Amino acid sequence: MTDLKIKSVKTRAVNVPLSAPHPTAGGTVTSAPLVLIDLETDGGVTGRTYLFCYTAFALKPVAALVQSFGELIAGDALAPLEIYKKLQGRLRLLGPQGLTGMAAAGIDMAAWDALAVANGTPLASLLGGKPGTVAAYHSCGMGGLEAAAKDTEASLKLGFDTIKFKIGYGDVAQDLAVLKATRKAGARKLLVDYNQSLDVTSAIARERVLEEMDLVWIEEPTTADDYAGHATIAAAAATPIQIGENMWGPTDFEKAIAEGFTDGIMLDVMKIGGVTGWMKATVLAEIHGIRVSSHLFPEVSAQLLSVTRGAQLLEWQDWVTPVLAEPLIPKAGIAHAGTAPGCGIAWNESVVAKCLV
Ligand SMILES: [Mg+2]
Repeated sequence: MTDLKIKSVKTRAVNVPLSAPHPTAGGTVTSAPLVLIDLETDGGVTGRTYLFCYTAFALKPVAALVQSFGELIAGDALAPLEIYKKLQGRLRLLGPQGLTGMAAAGIDMAAWDALAVANGTPLASLLGGKPGTVAAYHSCGMGGLEAAAKDTEASLKLGFDTIKFKIGYGDVAQDLAVLKATRKAGARKLLVDYNQSLDVTSAIARERVLEEMDLVWIEEPTTADDYAGHATIAAAAATPIQIGENMWGPTDFEKAIAEGFTDGIMLDVMKIGGVTGWMKATVLAEIHGIRVSSHLFPEVSAQLLSVTRGAQLLEWQDWVTPVLAEPLIPKAGIAHAGTAPGCGIAWNESVVAKCLV
């Protein structure tokens, strides 16, 4: 397909202010700390992606790791599966999680992007499918009653009829009151995210009360890696339970299945191990008949959901939009995977310059 070789990998750390603070049961997000990656090949083709670092403290070490991995693969063929194998081999004694896992995923995503660009096709086509559409939801925070109604109105204005709210207030009566306020403001399909704030017993108790809201899913009611706990909650609940954004690599997903968790998953393309990790994880999902949604990264996720059987929903916020020249913006609540070569990621350089760390 291509005989290109990796020339170099460049990184830039940016901290992009959010248009509005995003409160959750696990703390308030006020900015998007990103490492932007440009993977250059000897043929002039560049692969691009970004990593979401959650905290600005992680920006420098993640960027340094990406650069070190870039030096490790300089001169290698632009063959993402070979690169994945090489980096996973180097990480065997360290594991696929954490900052090293993020950096390896960044290299993987940028390499796949470069290969698709080199072939003049969108990523979904390179993977044997074609860019398609998937229903998207707007992700909102945990700002109490007043914000719930305002966020609903803003989401509806953006064309979304499916909206996610962070909950986990002092008691379930407050959770319910907020959700009723969103319904009153016009929200049709509702999802909620507890951001791991409950124990298993109280999660089951709160779910019972929330059943009347007919929610699309309840996300991470308890500790993310308590797969047995989530399986217990799912078995007791009428509402689908959703986990997955904190799975590090496909083997974490395998562990969740082994513990009996087979409700929906939402893969974070970075934490799951890049495009390669996503492909491996979604084979498991297909075998076990598990629905797949995405977490952050709308551009690359839309490409991947296009080739994922059982694709359910794409998560969307505008957090990364400012630094992208052509961000994916869902229309009437539907995400259309980009038809440009690669994942369609190009930088809005004037905004990048303002947000450089
Ligand atoms: Mg979540």
